[in-house]
Amino acid sequence: MRFVIALMRHETNTFSPIATPLSAFNRGSSTDGPLYGDDAVRACEGTNSAAAAFIDIARRQGDEFVMPLMANAVPSGMVTAEAFESMAATIVDAVRAGCDAVMLDLHGAMVAQGFPDAEGELLARIRAAAPDVPIAVSLDFHANFSPALIDNATVIAGYCTYPHVDVYETGARAARTLMAALRGQTRPVILWRRLPMLTHMLRQTPRAQPMKDIMDRAMAAEREGEVLNASVFGGFPLADIPYTGLAVVIVADTARQAQAQRLLDELCGMAWERRADFVFPIEPMQASIAHAKGLSEGPVVLVDHGDNCGAGGPTDEMTVLREVLRQGLDGVVAGPFWDPQAVEELIAAGVGRTVTLDVGGKTDMPALGLKGRPLRLTGRVRCITDGSYQVTGPMFTGMKLSLGRTAVLDVDGTLVVVCEKPQEPFDTGVFTHAGIDLSRQKYILIKSRQHFRAGFEPIASDIVLVAGPGVCSSDYSQFPFRHLPRPIYPLDPVTTHELS
Ligand SMILES: [Zn+2]
Repeated sequence: MRFVIALMRHETNTFSPIATPLSAFNRGSSTDGPLYGDDAVRACEGTNSAAAAFIDIARRQGDEFVMPLMANAVPSGMVTAEAFESMAATIVDAVRAGCDAVMLDLHGAMVAQGFPDAEGELLARIRAAAPDVPIAVSLDFHANFSPALIDNATVIAGYCTYPHVDVYETGARAARTLMAALRGQTRPVILWRRLPMLTHMLRQTPRAQPMKDIMDRAMAAEREGEVLNASVFGGFPLADIPYTGLAVVIVADTARQAQAQRLLDELCGMAWERRADFVFPIEPMQASIAHAKGLSEGPVVLVDHGDNCGAGGPTDEMTVLREVLRQGLDGVVAGPFWDPQAVEELIAAGVGRTVTLDVGGKTDMPALGLKGRPLRLTGRVRCITDGSYQVTGPMFTGMKLSLGRTAVLDVDGTLVVVCEKPQEPFDTGVFTHAGIDLSRQKYILIKSRQHFRAGFEPIASDIVLVAGPGVCSSDYSQFPFRHLPRPIYPLDPVTTHELS
């Protein structure tokens, strides 16, 4: 057998002001842009990625494979048409050269200029180039589904976790079904439904209700062989496209479609009945910080979830830190804030020097009518680092990451960490690499939503969610949605969960 394996991942927040050219697709490498061929294989093998599972299976079976592309970008705004065309052509050309099957490690929420459903477009092009070649796809839990994505895939499997720790396993699940199909042991068919539900990401995790029972039921059905693959997708709500929403996707043997249909109805029914529980009740930011101020024991992790680079936020929105300072919380470490200009100024000043400068607030967010508002701070430069650290927590364990050059400013005991490259703090290394002892901090202010739990939950005496402003806000009334499928709950009254 000969396989084409490719990785192309991006979660597009269509409201984000951060551009996404081809050069942004360099997550996991220090090069500018994607990796190709053997470089892609080397970067991918041994990692917790679906593509690594595809590589392992091909090798185990003694099959040939090529990996034309590994392109992974941090969540941000719309992908440029040029970037999408380049990546899609690289994959399609490899398929056209001849193969027995295609295994794709995709996100499912990529939006490119001109292509609101970038993955669906990619699959349609592959299908046109090789009409009979089976295509197995692994997708992020935050995928949004169009008919094109479903119709052109042979097998689909999605992550069952959030934080996403089962990425390799998801690839293995998709590949298992694909291999059975290639051996003629099954003829897979995909059944699916998207519900008119715009869920809140803070209520999506399968670790807790309302999602836990639904995901547990899906996983049990797959494990026990009721269907070939069963996946529940929370959907990525910050995408103004016609395909946004929670979805259930089932891969079943053609002969067992009726059973699969019953499972699909059951899972969709569970999700729809629980729709109100997928709504996150928003507490005003000032009240959350006041509540945190009253807590006696630290470290209290304050999570600003309105501006999270893990979902397309610039990570330089300073409103929450401004309020924390105004309310006079003591023993705070905050960051990492993205501000290359401030880093430059702090490095120029030098360690030990006292400086006054504008930190953050350099990015406008025109989609929400928000203007960047820097925070004027005076403090002592405590240290400067190269921002490099190795992950010790459970998410992407062992991966070497870099915040770019990083500076720590001591503002009357509040430590403000400023970096050159935005990064969601899912590992404590963002602070500890700069010599900050988190156990001695009363408050740790970070920008994240769910992934911080991987590294910070174990050290937190308490977690307080803070609804700061930004393009990741849970207040959907702020977003000028124009292309969403309407009606959609909770923005509109919806009485049925059938697709219109
Ligand atoms: Zn995700």
